Amino acid sequence: MNGIENVTGPVFRPGDAGFDEQLAGYQAAHPHRPDLVVGAESSDDVRAAVRHAADHGLPVAVETSGHGRAAPLSGGVLISTRRMDAVRIDPATHLARVEAGTRWEQVVAAAAEHGLVPPSGTSPESGVVGYTLGGGIGVLARELGWASDRVRSVDLVTADGRLRHVTAESEPELFRVLRGAGHGLGVVTAMEIELVPGGRIHGGSLAVAGEHVRALLDAYREWTAGLPDGLTSSIGALPYPDLPMVPEHLRGRYVAQVRIASSGSAEETDRLVAPLRAAVPTTGTLGELPYAQATTIFNEPADPHPYTGTNAMLRELDPAVAEAMLDITGPDAPVMCVLGLRHLGGALARPPAVPDAVAHRDAPYLLQVLSLVDGTDVPGRLHGELMDAVAPWTAGRTPNFRFGKQAATAWPIEVPGRADLEAELDPKGLFR
Ligand SMILES: Cc1cc2nc3c(=O)[nH]c(=O)nc-3n(C[C@H](O)[C@H](O)[C@H](O)COP(=O)(O)OP(=O)(O)OC[C@H]3O[C@@H](n4cnc5c(N)ncnc54)[C@H](O)[C@@H]3O)c2cc1C
Repeated sequence: MNGIENVTGPVFRPGDAGFDEQLAGYQAAHPHRPDLVVGAESSDDVRAAVRHAADHGLPVAVETSGHGRAAPLSGGVLISTRRMDAVRIDPATHLARVEAGTRWEQVVAAAAEHGLVPPSGTSPESGVVGYTLGGGIGVLARELGWASDRVRSVDLVTADGRLRHVTAESEPELFRVLRGAGHGLGVVTAMEIELVPGGRIHGGSLAVAGEHVRALLDAYREWTAGLPDGLTSSIGALPYPDLPMVPEHLRGRYVAQVRIASSGSAEETDRLVAPLRAAVPTTGTLGELPYAQATTIFNEPADPHPYTGTNAMLRELDPAVAEAMLDITGPDAPVMCVLGLRHLGGALARPPAVPDAVAHRDAPYLLQVLSLVDGTDVPGRLHGELMDAVAPWTAGRTPNFRFGKQAATAWPIEVPGRADLEAELDPKGLFR
């Protein structure tokens, strides 16, 4: 007996063997401190856990990977979805049905068996559901659009313990808000997501030395203006620490990486990238790779660490934005700032046939900044200074790239209709 009616998965309380492992996730800062962790194995377990919380007036949080953990629980019930990770691909309809705890690498592998690709992101370990509820900007985002745009149905347990199959027909308003502004409305137990034919891409990462990064940002503005939707790119720039585990050519240096992923041929990709390579000195090569290896282009760190970060959806890449990025959060910043600049547009800018809640979809760039949590207020202050400096060109923020304490305030993001749904579905604020 685990003490919770109708839960068949494991239940952990503080002091139990395995309790701490349930709380460990990719975000190493501010772990949840629940009274109870329910290791859900089915949607019935999720319903029972939510009912238990509602009956006892306890707050609820959900976690898969911990990539996007925001406000940590203090007491209450944490529903861990990691044990619910079944993926089913229907090759006829091009739909993937994924359970709540599925990570992108699992869907990518399963889809590849049928010559299909999902709208997955730069980290193989990110949870599909958390990513997709917040919009989801993938490796081929300019061609595939937001992951939210490709959702066909969501199975959701709401605060009343009911399991709803939410589609455009069954509950249009809830279906709209779940796709793009969906965190905190209940527990998703499964989703159906549309895949597209594909399998191989051309791409890679081109390195630009610190002294050329200003020129790179200028050139990037010009270059991205004329690209077809089939080419998605981004820049990541950081001062690499002078540590033995860092590759020698990066150790102790400020370097930007231009990450390129294209569904076009090698010749077309090389032709499209040539003007950028002519504008600034780059090292590295592009090549063909299976979509399943696309995340190697981004080389996101695999180990858990404490981080905080925020973002700005930009109306344009004004020269003053590039200056602020480097002057405030560049190589001379007092703490390490990892800068990201994603080129949006293309399919990301086109509204889906069934409306969703992705905000600022016509913004052509996404600026990201991230730092390690160091126990001081310096990272947050610098990120704030950068956000203030770029405010004149900022359309708003996107939920997925707000990390740590900055994510806890993610919902001043204005989403028409969301407050009404919160009041209707979760009047007592179980999920907040
Ligand atoms: C290294 C790294 C790379 C990333 N790359 C990308 C990228 O390329 N594109 C992009 O768009 N985003 C990216 N992100 C952001 C990522 O998509 C978000 O952090 C997302 O919230 C992660 O979801 P998760 O389930 O993995 O994380 P978790 O921390 O487990 O969950 C995050 C939040 O999602 C909600 N949630 C999770 N599961 C459920 C559920 N079953 N029901 C209801 N709510 C749920 C909860 O509110 C939870 O707090 C990246 C993040 C990291 C750390």
